[in-house]
Amino acid sequence: MIPIQLDNISKTYGESAAAVPTVSVDFTVEQGEFFTLLGPSGCGKSTLLRMIAGFIAPSAGTIRFADRDVTKTPAHKRGIGMVFQNYALFPHMTVAENVAYGLRLRRVSKDTREPRIERALQRVGLEGYGKRRIDQLSGGQQQRVALARAIVIEPEVLLLDEPLSNLDAKLREETRMQIREVQKAAETTAVYVTHDQAEAMAMSDRIAVLAGGRAHQIDSPQKVYNEPTTAFVARFIGRSNVIPGEVISLKRGTAVVRLGSGDAEVRRHAAMPLSAGEKVEVSIRPESLNVTSAADADLRGVVRSREFLGSTAVLEVDLEGVEQVITVSTPNVDVAAGDRIGFALGAGAGWVIPE
Ligand code: ADP
Repeated sequence: MIPIQLDNISKTYGESAAAVPTVSVDFTVEQGEFFTLLGPSGCGKSTLLRMIAGFIAPSAGTIRFADRDVTKTPAHKRGIGMVFQNYALFPHMTVAENVAYGLRLRRVSKDTREPRIERALQRVGLEGYGKRRIDQLSGGQQQRVALARAIVIEPEVLLLDEPLSNLDAKLREETRMQIREVQKAAETTAVYVTHDQAEAMAMSDRIAVLAGGRAHQIDSPQKVYNEPTTAFVARFIGRSNVIPGEVISLKRGTAVVRLGSGDAEVRRHAAMPLSAGEKVEVSIRPESLNVTSAADADLRGVVRSREFLGSTAVLEVDLEGVEQVITVSTPNVDVAAGDRIGFALGAGAGWVIPE
């Protein structure tokens, strides 16, 4: 297992001097880590993954696999296993022939190949499937063959580019746990690309939340969820409410912030410079906003509209002049447009967004 170091890596498409980098990052993936690049479409996730793979060259910066500078090393000499969204299997070959592919390229002898192929298929739960044709398998099984093909070469680095996006929701959930288990058992460092925040939260040791080509936050799923560093991260992960307010006073690790007409004590980063009177944004998770009578509420307003979404409801609320879209985790809340509404914040509910 090795760490992957991206040292001031950037990629600018196009030759013009005015072109701005599509992506620009600086971070290290620890050895054995399951590390996810998460962000909306077009934020540069695939570009970044392809640079780690060696399919495209960075415009600036250095990529290191442990002590090895691989910035100019071709993909096939980097020791990577790769899994693609569309599986990229050879449809006319059997499962075993597909898995054997990387071993053949590396001139591994037939005697050694066979037990390794069987072991890889076992790892992904496809033992005994070696002689099947690819077109006889379901989408989920095909993706597991692609995973077996990637790990059979015992790669130091496993790269996965949205491998679950062609599967239906239920199969996605089953397969994501399996990918995670296979990665840990194979003792490889993994970089995983997805635009699905729930998937990233479920699978990752750490997540890099990317937008506009930069990493807004690189942290554990818990940190990214509970302590988002930017309003973008707060909204993108778990659909947080972001509410503007004004700092009234500061305590150790918390701040009293005026939100609408009420004051609420919310968490903050201890090292964050803040002073009374400062305008801030507060991230509040849907599950920590409780609808209550306007009399004993921390936030008060008038409902403009209500949308039922099953596990949550989305309310458009005029919070004393500030229009807010508030997601609440009590979807059956009995309110209609024009009603006065109050929200109570659970203890430790809010978080002052540092940037
Ligand atoms: P993501 O994987 O997050 O959806 P990509 O890395 O595929 O994002 O793309 C990031 C941006 O770079 C997009 O705006 C895309 O249009 C642009 N881009 C990607 N590949 C090329 C290319 N070969 N030439 C020019 N622009 C590209």
